[in-house]
Formats: sequence, C-alpha cells, structure tokens
Amino acid sequence: MNIDLSGQVVAVTGASSGIGEATALAAAQAGAAVSLAARRADRIEALAKKIIDGGGRAVAIPTDVAKEDEAAAFVQRTRDELGGLDVLVNNAGVMLLGPIPGADAGEWRRMIDVNVYGVLYTTHAAIGGLLEQGSGHIVNVSSVAGRRATAGSGVYNLTKFGVNAFSEALRQEVTAQGVRVTLIEPGAVATELREHNRPEIQKQMDERFAGVEKLKSEDIANAIIYAIGQPDYVSINEVLVRPTKQVG
Ligand code: NDP
Repeated sequence: MNIDLSGQVVAVTGASSGIGEATALAAAQAGAAVSLAARRADRIEALAKKIIDGGGRAVAIPTDVAKEDEAAAFVQRTRDELGGLDVLVNNAGVMLLGPIPGADAGEWRRMIDVNVYGVLYTTHAAIGGLLEQGSGHIVNVSSVAGRRATAGSGVYNLTKFGVNAFSEALRQEVTAQGVRVTLIEPGAVATELREHNRPEIQKQMDERFAGVEKLKSEDIANAIIYAIGQPDYVSINEVLVRPTKQVG
C-alpha cells in the first residue's frame, strides 16, 4: 500500500500488543505522528522508542480507557504533545468468553467497561475538536462478533453489537460535517486476546478454529491504514475481514 499519512496525528488505544501495536507501527511507517494508549506502560514506551529510533514521532501515554478521566487525558495529551488529532483508533478491548449461566459478572463488567465505555469516553473527548476542525476520523475496532451472536459469547457479542450501533449513529451525526467513522470487524486474529480466558475456554476456541490459518495483526492494521488513507471525500464505513477458512 502506498499511503502517505505525513502531517497527520493518529491516536491508538490498546497499542501495547496485537492489532493496536501493528496499527500504530503501520501508521508511523506511513508518516503519521502516533500516540499510544494502554495500561502496560513498558510496552507502549518500548514501541514509542522503536518508532522514534526509526525517525518517526510517537508518544506513549499510559491509560486505562475504562476510566473517563484517563481516556480524556489521553486525547488531550495527544493534542498537546503532537500538535493535534486527526484519527482516533478505538482498538482496546477484552474478550472473556463463556456461557451466560454461572458466568462471573466481574468479567461482564470488564468487557463492558473497556469495549463499550472505553470507546465512548475517548470518542466523547475527541469528537468536539474534530467537528470544530471540520475533519477527522474515528475508527472503531469491533468484530465478526459484532454482527453475529454465538452461544458462549453473549456479553462479548453485546459489547461489539453496541460498538456497531454506536458507530453507525455517530457516523450519521458527524459525516456531513467532514468527520469520518469506520467500523473494522476482524475475524480470528492471532493475538494475546484469547490468553485472558480460562484454559477450558481457550481449548474450545482452539477447537473452533482448528485448521484455520488466523489473520495476523498486520492484516487488520492494513485495513485500518487503507480506510484512513483515503481522500477526504471517501468514507470507508465498514470493513469485515475473516481468515479465508473461518466459516462462522
Ligand atoms: P490484544 O489482547 O493483543 O490487545 C488488546 C489491547 O487492549 C492491549 O493493548 C491491551 O493493553 C488493551 N487494553 C485492554 N484493556 C485496556 C484498558 N482498560 N485500557 C487501555 N487499554 C486496554 O488483542 P487484539 O489485538 O486481538 O485486540 C484488539 C481489538 O481487536 C479488541 O477490541 C478485540 O475485541 C478486537 N478483535 C480481536 C480479534 C481477535 O481474534 N484477536 C477478533 C475481532 C476483534 P493493556 O493490557 O496493556 O492495557
């Protein structure tokens, strides 16, 4: 892809691993200045250093997006330290699978806090400035699970269906004023996401995806860079990317 993001500031949540890390790196390689949010400060600081050592601009901002004040501070510090904000990639997320009966309600709260409130808080902090400047882009990383509910994934589905609904409503509110909204819906990607699940759940996931060559984080980063690299009058609203052999 020959996309030039020089002069743009791209803020990425969940930049300490997986899709967020790959997206931040790809955006920096395309010439953007990037701000990196996640709770693991060491990981985002190492990534920022790698980008800066490679001649790019990056700032690591340790952030828990589930906390409204920290999410707002991430957006504000991005503007203060990188001179503006053009693209917000709401990528941070957790996926804690398991059946609804007998579930740990604390896991539900974690998913809703990060996958839903995390997206709302950063968007809320960013959107006023984007509307004022009459340009900008919000990219929300949802999932195939945002379009298709399955047994054992109910609350993760709830959070991602919510992200889909929110993204479309937001798009209708801001697109005529020059602010673009893109929904990215990955299928199975090889990242740390599954590792936060209980061992028996990880086993079920492995069985579900047996024989499927999973996507790499870079495959999703490519889709995001493609969407944000389009000319201002082109709005890529939704991108659904599955591994070829993923059926459901
Ligand atoms: P990873 O587990 O590798 O990355 C998740 C990222 O989210 C990490 O950087 C983590 O950073 C961050 N994060 C989690 N909680 C918080 C928090 N409270 N505040 C700030 N950051 C947080 O998984 P992926 O890269 O796979 O996940 C990225 C997104 O892609 C998620 O939204 C996920 O739902 C979605 N997705 C993934 C798929 C897959 O198969 N992997 C499929 C479909 C969608 P830290 O822990 O340092 O805070």
